[in-house]
Amino acid sequence: MQIRQPEIPHIVFLFSDTGGGHRSASEAIIEAIELEFPNQITYEMVDLFRDYAPPPLNKAPEIYPPLSRIPAAWSFGYRQTNSPRRIRNINNVAWPYIRRSIYRLMEEHPCDLIVSVHPLMNTPVLRTLRNRRNPFITVVTDMVSTHAAWYDNRADLIIVPTNIARENGIEFGIDPEKIKVVGLPVADKFCHMKEDSQEIRQRLGWPTDLPVILLIGGGEGMGPLEKTAHAINDAHLNAALVIIAGRNRDLKDRLEKHNWNMPVTIYGFVKNMPDLMQASNVLVTKAGPGTISEACIAGLPIILYSKMPGQEDGNVDYVVNEGAGVWAPEPEMVVQTLQKWLREPELRWQTASACRRIARPQAAREIARILAARVGITHPE
Ligand code: UDP
Repeated sequence: MQIRQPEIPHIVFLFSDTGGGHRSASEAIIEAIELEFPNQITYEMVDLFRDYAPPPLNKAPEIYPPLSRIPAAWSFGYRQTNSPRRIRNINNVAWPYIRRSIYRLMEEHPCDLIVSVHPLMNTPVLRTLRNRRNPFITVVTDMVSTHAAWYDNRADLIIVPTNIARENGIEFGIDPEKIKVVGLPVADKFCHMKEDSQEIRQRLGWPTDLPVILLIGGGEGMGPLEKTAHAINDAHLNAALVIIAGRNRDLKDRLEKHNWNMPVTIYGFVKNMPDLMQASNVLVTKAGPGTISEACIAGLPIILYSKMPGQEDGNVDYVVNEGAGVWAPEPEMVVQTLQKWLREPELRWQTASACRRIARPQAAREIARILAARVGITHPE
């Protein structure tokens, strides 16, 4: 967080730690603002749920991981709410209950621009602030199956990662002029890796003579990550395995106690994902939009082992159709793909170049310029 200085424009980012993607996206944009406009803009990130919402909504970051582990419930909730009319109805019911929190938020965080990177923060905030003077921009951090809650015509601009996300918005009734396709904001380090993979491996204490498989289940260690790790271990591959358990501490403890028969490194929530991706040869991941976008920039071929039903369905089709990875919803399918890719590295390289083709490494900086222009700061060029 930065202290607001009255003479400098101030941006408030509305996010929440429901998963890892909303935080990563805000941090990537903030980093790009610092790189493009040093000392010209101040900013802060506010977790609207945790810090302002009344109970039980303030527990959303804690409720999200267990809820997302019940695919049928998640899918049902996603489908049942995915229309502008239903979003309006839900907000009509919730609004009397939450509007005071939103007024308090705006009183305590006056700013020149509000940027929402969370689907559930658009309609309630825009409705509460309908007489606002400061602009409101939404940065959509889902890739393809973008939920109706992302789109509200009262936003001044909606920045989306793909053409499909733009078409969804138009279908949900958004003025096409208001939707701009830029890409999903990703940390600058993914785009400018200076260190060679072998150097990173040495620094991290990983084997330097084996291909490295990186296994990630989003920010919360989601999907059948443990089962998938065991299947990889049991396949006796000539490779090393790096597992990111994210914020899932129980999972990390269990993984650490397991008897592995291959070189395995286990981490909890890491802050150096660009290094880990740069130093790996294959990514096995849940179909999270942030992780997929980062892997594309890192040129890391992708095996998708699970998805959040509804929300991440489109990500799977996108990755597969673009040739950037494969869908392997069973641990045996993950193992079969790994065996093939380790045996025939050219298949891996082809997939890696498809990843690079769809990558949008400039997205964070482009978004930073758009936001800066809205608060009256333009690039010197
Ligand atoms: N991430 C991280 N450290 C971890 C695990 C994940 O920084 O230990 C980041 C990851 O790089 C990505 C985000 O968290 O930027 C996960 O976002 P994604 O959209 O893939 O999935 P979500 O967790 O939001 O479901």
